[in-house]
Amino acid sequence: MLGNWRALRKEILSDNDSLGLLDRWTFRWIQPMIRISIGVEVSETIQCPFCGQAFEVMIDTSVAEQRFTTDCEVCCRPFEIIAQCEPGEVLSVETR
Ligand SMILES: [Zn+2]
Repeated sequence: MLGNWRALRKEILSDNDSLGLLDRWTFRWIQPMIRISIGVEVSETIQCPFCGQAFEVMIDTSVAEQRFTTDCEVCCRPFEIIAQCEPGEVLSVETR
């Protein structure tokens, strides 16, 4: 489900209006709204490397490659998040 949404979002962001579901008019009307609603802050599910708890963090996808530390919501241990992004999309996330 999430994968499908990502593929759809990618298609919309890439100005590809060959989308079968939407006619041309609807597409032109809906595209700017989707751009605005996505923004560059994307929530990504990550997993604590210590206790395995999964939770969400906000990642600024306008930065192509970034690393930052956060504290686990459950065990409170700090760990590092390394994210590769393109605007509006998180390509990969690694925790250590
Ligand atoms: Zn933890």
